[in-house]
Formats: sequence, C-alpha cells, structure tokens
Amino acid sequence: MPLVSMRQLLDEAAKGGYGVGAFNVNDMEQIQAIMMAAKETKSPVIVQASRGARQFAEDLYLFRLIQAAAELNPEIPIAMHQDHGNSFETCKSAIELGYTSVMMDGSLQADGKTPSSFEENVEVTRKVVDYAHERGVTVEGEIGVLGGVEDGHGAGGSGLDHITDPDQAVEFAERTGVDALAIAIGTSHGAYKFTKKPDGSVLKMDVLIAIHKRLPNTHLVMHGSSSVPKDLQDIVNKYGGNLKETWGVPVEEIQLGIRNGVRKVNVDTDNRLAITGAIRKVLWETPEKFDPRDYMKPAREAMKKVVAQRMVEFGQAGHGGDYAPIDIKEIAKGYANGTLTTQPLVAAK
Ligand SMILES: [Zn+2]
Repeated sequence: MPLVSMRQLLDEAAKGGYGVGAFNVNDMEQIQAIMMAAKETKSPVIVQASRGARQFAEDLYLFRLIQAAAELNPEIPIAMHQDHGNSFETCKSAIELGYTSVMMDGSLQADGKTPSSFEENVEVTRKVVDYAHERGVTVEGEIGVLGGVEDGHGAGGSGLDHITDPDQAVEFAERTGVDALAIAIGTSHGAYKFTKKPDGSVLKMDVLIAIHKRLPNTHLVMHGSSSVPKDLQDIVNKYGGNLKETWGVPVEEIQLGIRNGVRKVNVDTDNRLAITGAIRKVLWETPEKFDPRDYMKPAREAMKKVVAQRMVEFGQAGHGGDYAPIDIKEIAKGYANGTLTTQPLVAAK
C-alpha cells in the first residue's frame, strides 16, 4: 500500500470513534517494531519523525525505511508525518521527500523555543496549509504551548504555562484550515511530565472537552501522551539506570480524550523506555555479549509490546482493513473542490 493521507486516516478514526497512535521513529528497529505491532493488531498507524530524527537518520535513510515498511505491509494504512515542523521550509522539505502529513508548530518561533504570537502562528500555519493541501498532504497545527523539551524542541517549563484557550482554538481552526489541531492541556514532552499521578489541577481534560464542544468535527491531537508506566521505569532502574520517579498521562485519561474528539495520540517516551530497559537488561545479565543483535532484538520486541498495547487501548486495533487508501492526488482534488472541507463546524457557546 502506498503511504496514506493522514487526513483520511483521521477521518476514518472519527467515523469509527477511535484514536490512532502516532509513534516516533529514528531507526530501522523502531519502524519494524511499529509494523510488527500494527500487523499483529490489524491497525492503521501514523509513523512520525521529528526534525532531530530526520537529522539523526539523514532523512533519506529514514524515508526509504518507511517506504520499505509500506511495501512489506500492503494491508496496513500508514501515514508518514513530520512531527513539530518549526518553519515553512521544514514542512516543505518533508513534503518534497514524500511525507503524507506535516505538523506546522507555529506556537513557537522558528528557533523551536520562543513562544510566538497568535497572528504569527496563524500566518505561518496558513502558508503551510496552502502549500500542503495543493499536494494532498495533511496539516496539523498547534495552538497553546506544550511544556518540556524534546529533541531540542520546546518552550521548556510547565505544561500549565500556556493552556489552549477554546475561543482561540476556534479562530485558529477557522483561519488556518488545518486538518488536525494539537492543543495544550497541561502535558509536557519527555519523561518528566507530572510529579504525581495527574488530576484535574494539572491535566486539563475539561479544557479539551470544552474545545471539542466548540469544534465537534475537528480532529484533536494529544502531544506528550506517553503514560510512562512504572514497570518500564523499574526495568531501566533495576539494570543500572537512574530515572527519577515520574508520572505520565494515564491511559484512561487518553481514552476520555478519544471519547471527546482526540484522533491522534503522540507516544515516544514509553517506547524509548522499553528499548532502553531491554538493552540494559541484556548487557547487565550477560556482560560477555557484544553482538548488537543480542540486545536490539529484545529491544525491538519490547517496543512492539508497548505499541501493540497502545493500539488496543486507543481502539485502532482491528481497523486496518476498514478502507481502501485514497490516492494522494485525489485528496488534493478534494481540498481544491471543497469536498474535503477544512472549514470547521463551530458550535455555539
Ligand atoms: Zn509533540
């Protein structure tokens, strides 16, 4: 199967009432782990690469690996997504390479650190939408600013510093024509999201629900949504790691989000923990080993297990064969003639 438009994937998820995990990749083993999980659970899937990942893997290596994944798994719809594009140029280069979806994170300036103004965000996002939609490529925008830093991208600080304002979310969706909208509800990138199990004072699910009520047809995106389960932390620490105690976003909160318009759920940290724990275990228990396959194979298996579990929890499992992929050129026509409208349905307050 060719790579699929993320818009089609999310529209289908909305129809089916489920969420789709978007898993970050940097290398072959991570891509294989995701595909193994998607195959096992019969799931459509979003694979995403940050700017840091594209740099690490030299772009073309990574993209060719994704193409191989699509060729080897013709029954699985895969969207390839640029995570946190910092500028029009970053998004354009991903589209030229063949990505079927980009995130223009205009909530920050091009340095990836300084929060931008609302008008700056609208302007750069609109520019990306015009360019991308002409080519059938999906666009995710971000309104509000997430906490933490990942791969050098992020404003730092707490996730509570720039919570999304529902009225601004409506105006942003109307003026930019984005297909999907990332919102800030208190989550942060990285492993250290919350210092205790999050409650409503730090994880603003009420804001998410308020935005969904105003924008019932807009696909919402949850970033920083690893659950950072204790068992994965424990494995890392048991075999020589040194992670401080931390809490992520509980799966039941993500499921509440999915019942309220969340269609894309970004997960990276959990997979990083699974891989690192598995590698540490092998090296700790059998220090005489030096063939990278001896620890990369269990690492890949550990990540597959986490991804497959999330696919079941998000509800995408079993939906891989629901629909035939629409050619990206047809998607472009849909944007041009208005059948794929980007004007959001806005409900009265
Ligand atoms: Zn993110």
